[in-house]
Amino acid sequence: MTRLWPDLMPSNSNAFFAAAPPEAPGILAIDLDQLAANWQALRDYVAPAQCAAVVKADAYGLGADRVIPALAAAGCRVFFVATLAEARQARTLAPQGNILVLDGITPGASEAYTQINAWPVLSSLAEIKEWGQEGVQRGSPAPCALHIDTGLNRLGMSEPEIRALAGDTHLLGRLDIRLVMSHLACADEPDHPKNAKQHDVMRQLRPLLPNAATSLAASDGIMLGPNFHFDLVRPGYALYGGQASKGRPAPVKPVVQSFARVLQVRDLAPGGTVGYSASYSAEQPRRIAVIAAGYADGFFRHLSAAAGETGGFVAFSGKRAPVVGRVSMDLITTDVTAFNDPSVVRGDWAEILGPTITLEEMGAAAGTIGYETLTRLGRRFHRVYLERDGDI
Ligand SMILES: *Cc1c(COP(=O)(O)O)cnc(C)c1O
Repeated sequence: MTRLWPDLMPSNSNAFFAAAPPEAPGILAIDLDQLAANWQALRDYVAPAQCAAVVKADAYGLGADRVIPALAAAGCRVFFVATLAEARQARTLAPQGNILVLDGITPGASEAYTQINAWPVLSSLAEIKEWGQEGVQRGSPAPCALHIDTGLNRLGMSEPEIRALAGDTHLLGRLDIRLVMSHLACADEPDHPKNAKQHDVMRQLRPLLPNAATSLAASDGIMLGPNFHFDLVRPGYALYGGQASKGRPAPVKPVVQSFARVLQVRDLAPGGTVGYSASYSAEQPRRIAVIAAGYADGFFRHLSAAAGETGGFVAFSGKRAPVVGRVSMDLITTDVTAFNDPSVVRGDWAEILGPTITLEEMGAAAGTIGYETLTRLGRRFHRVYLERDGDI
């Protein structure tokens, strides 16, 4: 018998609890309607610039097979992935979409891109030459994007490379350039001087390259204002409800919720310790709920809490229960002593992420960012996709 904690749950939660099989250790609920609404809100926010969607890493762990069709149905036409394998999947899910591969091409891989009409984002002259050669073999230049490095020093062409390319009409003639893009290093900090610097570099270098759409902003860059939008923006994290910018919230709402089962509730006598390495010991009697989520489910081990430390939290009906002791692979132990009317019992669902605990909070508590939490969350959990008409 499953007992819910309905009072503070979102209105749609009963549907996803009811849809989970009784043996599910956890639930990862993904609201596809909210995802679509987030994309549309960002589209409206950046208009007349165009809004793409970044769906790399299996749509940030949420399932590209469901996320891409939902975004396509909402009107999205441009999808960024990281790898060719992701592009192949995206091509089957969005047959009409423009699919761009951020990692570019690895040596010898060009033909595989043209076969599925995926556009590589080319970051060096070596890649550009290979892609030009692919165009020669096909008999016509193939679409691609060019990545300019404006100061991130990760991927992208340096200024000398851009100048070399700009002077090489033979090579340029072999390319069908659809987009010129760059990526910001510090866009999550709106006041960081690097933002304006990279913007300036983009303004200087961009005119050297042929006419094509221009893109600079990801989720956090969008919140830097219209100056940073150019022709196309590339949000990922914000689509999934993440707040990437410090201080300038994106016009989006959470998309993901996760819950895990209470497997057992046990009473701990003073002096008793909890978990590996006995890192937590009780001075007073404590009640401990053992929950079916561990670091293999994306509940990072860094959320452990030795005696006197604060680590991660779960929540019941909006009330937090702190992790005590080590997070292990499949389990966490939480202090539910304060829950006595009603008390937490076996079979209850603990909120891992949801109305009480945000992605940002969970990431920060684990010494990382919400992005990493999101991409690692709930691989073993039962997935529920919420869509209009109560279709699950
Ligand atoms: C991942 C990525 C994005 C999306 O970033 P978010 O912060 O998730 O919006 C955009 N552009 C590039 C180059 C990326 O690598």
